[in-house]
Amino acid sequence: MKWINLRAPEFKITTESIALVPLGSTEQHGNHLPVQTDAALVGELASRIEAACPDTVFLLPTLWLGASHHHLDFGGTLSLRASTYVGVLRDITECLLRQGFQRIFFLNGHGGNIPPLSQFLSNCQEEPLKAGETLPWVVSATYWLMNPPSEAKELAGMKSARLTHACEYETSMMLSVTPDLVAMPEAKAGKPHFASKFFALQGEFPSRVQAGVRFSQITLNGAMGEPGLAQVEKGQKLLDYYTKTLVEFVQELRRWPFLPAGR
Ligand SMILES: [Zn+2]
Repeated sequence: MKWINLRAPEFKITTESIALVPLGSTEQHGNHLPVQTDAALVGELASRIEAACPDTVFLLPTLWLGASHHHLDFGGTLSLRASTYVGVLRDITECLLRQGFQRIFFLNGHGGNIPPLSQFLSNCQEEPLKAGETLPWVVSATYWLMNPPSEAKELAGMKSARLTHACEYETSMMLSVTPDLVAMPEAKAGKPHFASKFFALQGEFPSRVQAGVRFSQITLNGAMGEPGLAQVEKGQKLLDYYTKTLVEFVQELRRWPFLPAGR
């Protein structure tokens, strides 16, 4: 069910119902992709989940604003600071719990949302509870991190190791979802003129150190990886692959048992 199309009496929520909240962003994606890229891709995946499980899933509209302060040096970026974003997630969750949902799934499509999303889930663990109270399931997943990156690479015939930003992966999927909005002649990454064996500037390997960088420090044009290698067929394969895992997870989540607090 698509949340925004329902009338108030049609919200008949059962213990199996899942509120699905796609988390996007509005931020620069290099010179070749539109600023809606993360919102468009996570929205596409969420729509596919809803189509596969229409009786269980209540699909909320995609949250178009994310935590993107690290992209503000490039055009078109809008952002909530992390503390505000945590508050937005908390308020959405409170509304859903009040409506009677006991299974809430935040499906994330933007890397910058991961730290505040983790903070929000930690905060959920600190909520005071009464003994015997049934605990809801509040869960999240970042779609490209649900499986080993080598699987997606092999299955879709990708040349680059993993999904990063405005890269071969995101560009391929956008060629499948909104081809008219992709400017392939502009699809070039902007590697900065230095390298590190500890800090993965371009996401070439799992980074051995973390840094509070802005994107203007790690890419000259806002894109990473090898966007010029993008192809629509690769994008279709990636979307099918991510969808399969997500549908499998949602079908499992609807059966996770409820256990009372304070046993
Ligand atoms: Zn992106």
